[in-house]
Amino acid sequence: MPAFNFRFDNSYFRDLPGFYVPWKPATVPAPRLLFLNRELAAELGLEADALDGEPGAALFAGNALPEGADPLAQAYAGHQFGGFSPQLGDGRALLLGEVLDSQGRRRDIAFKGSGRTPFSRGGDGKAAVGPMLREVLIGEAMHALGIPTTRALAVAATGEPVQRERPLPGAVLTRVALSHLRVGTFQFFASRGDLDKLRQLADYAIARHDADLVDTPDRHLALLRRVAERQARLIARWMNVGFIHGVMNTDNMTLSGETIDYGPCAFMEAYDPDAVFSSIDHGGRYAYGNQPLIARWNLARLAEALLPLIAGNGEDEAAMAQAVAQATEVLDAFPNLYAQALLQGQRAKLGIEQATAAQDEADQALADDFLTLLHTHAVDFTLGWRRLADVAAGNEAPLRALFGDAATAPDAWLARWRERLGAGDAAQRAAAMRRVSPIVIARNHLVEEALTAASEHDDLGPLNRMLAALRDPFTESAEHARYAEPAPAAVTACYRTF
Ligand code: AMP
Ligand code: MG
Ligand code: MG
Repeated sequence: MPAFNFRFDNSYFRDLPGFYVPWKPATVPAPRLLFLNRELAAELGLEADALDGEPGAALFAGNALPEGADPLAQAYAGHQFGGFSPQLGDGRALLLGEVLDSQGRRRDIAFKGSGRTPFSRGGDGKAAVGPMLREVLIGEAMHALGIPTTRALAVAATGEPVQRERPLPGAVLTRVALSHLRVGTFQFFASRGDLDKLRQLADYAIARHDADLVDTPDRHLALLRRVAERQARLIARWMNVGFIHGVMNTDNMTLSGETIDYGPCAFMEAYDPDAVFSSIDHGGRYAYGNQPLIARWNLARLAEALLPLIAGNGEDEAAMAQAVAQATEVLDAFPNLYAQALLQGQRAKLGIEQATAAQDEADQALADDFLTLLHTHAVDFTLGWRRLADVAAGNEAPLRALFGDAATAPDAWLARWRERLGAGDAAQRAAAMRRVSPIVIARNHLVEEALTAASEHDDLGPLNRMLAALRDPFTESAEHARYAEPAPAAVTACYRTF
């Protein structure tokens, strides 16, 4: 076996027996490395050169387990589109173990698409090249935008077809995460009434993500509050880049506050709060504008699961009533936490450098009215914000051009905005705005183009070129100009991610 230098320290395996099934990845016929994240490898203290080529392909396809790995399939439950499944679990994923990264942070290393497990139900346990490379593109895009996210370390083709609507080339993704603890992990044990395991899980989560809370008496309530704070910040970040997750089921919401599970997700083009890209989301449950509401709904499911721990004793009625009141207070605080995080981000996008609480309402109205303008005139969300930075720099034409025939539509709003900004260094302000409003996002038609080339024509060129652009999203350059262009209207209208 080649000497990969993963320094595994597998706390989930060691500390949580009964929370998983030890399991091995399937062997595949013809491993081939399609993607290796050298920067992330370095961050994990890995020798990127050793991970490349044939040994890397065998490793990342699941054929050669690295020394020190304790592969396991995690148990979890979850609400999917509002309906509860008491048992989901890793049906096509395996946690290999954890390593401490260069900053001393514990990171999960996990496979996705590595074969059937006891949690697979009717599924084949496999994944196709296209969707796994999609996780690469969107995850790297989010990371470069500064948004907490799981990341792809590698993708290996398996040389084996997977049967979907038609046969597709198979692949295994290696995913790195602060943990794979989900709201659904708590629901799994809560719904079984297994309070001992529930407490063990909560204490594991606290030790891992909120170690400063370990010795506090009401630590389980504090955990709920921390998760709510992280999710409020995360969803605000999504909203301010026009990101639509697409499947915010409770099994796809992390305790860590990282974005996870890039399925039918997309970045919005023309601004529309009702935007939905997933073809399986018929009711628009996970539409762009619903995301903060769904986050709170998911947090309520976490709160329910944690209630017996917050009460300290699941049997005592008075304690339970108090726990309900305490958890409700946390949930009721969420909309304001979210609104504050959103406004903070919007102020940066508006170029507002100083603000007091007394200005919250007016500033929120200013941001809302800008979005209404974009909505009314079907202006591209990303470019709308970006061209506002050009206006700050003294160049109005690019913003006006986005409004087509209605080039004067933003005038009244711009006057209000200027009044709010007041004096200041224009160049400095514009530069600050460009650091928070990207010019490059992962546009759907270009994602599809890159995935089709990779999956159907074995051509990784478009993927790698797009990755280069996505990794530098705030810089406007001639080289990356095509990645800043909105999709042709005809393409946008019928686009579906799934
Ligand atoms: P997801 O939609 O990826 O969040 O997955 C939801 C649940 O379905 C999880 O329990 C997955 O492990 C399981 N699942 C998804 N695809 C497959 C598959 N091809 N084979 C087995 N299980 C799967
Ligand atoms: Mg999932
Ligand atoms: Mg998925």
